[in-house]
Amino acid sequence: MTDKSEGKYYCQICGFECDESDLCSFELCICCGGEFGYDDDDDDAIRTYREKWFGDGIPICFTKNPRFPKYWSIAHLKTQLANIGFNLTDEMIAEIEKNRMKR
Ligand SMILES: [Zn+2]
Repeated sequence: MTDKSEGKYYCQICGFECDESDLCSFELCICCGGEFGYDDDDDDAIRTYREKWFGDGIPICFTKNPRFPKYWSIAHLKTQLANIGFNLTDEMIAEIEKNRMKR
């Protein structure tokens, strides 16, 4: 399930722009690895998956997918999340960076 705005579809977990065909497809988001139609089934599922993903230091699922930007950073994540109205705060970024170090 993804929100449609301006003809674009976004992963409801990480805000990555996805194809219409991804909707409820049970495919994995190429960014956060969330399963469309399952991990984004409702607000609770979305929040749970996102928190786990942040806690794991935002591992990117398919970095080699051509649809994924070659140079991706946490600044991209902030922009992505803004697509779905999620405000990534500086505190969250600091926490994610800390979790990334642990990987
Ligand atoms: Zn995603």
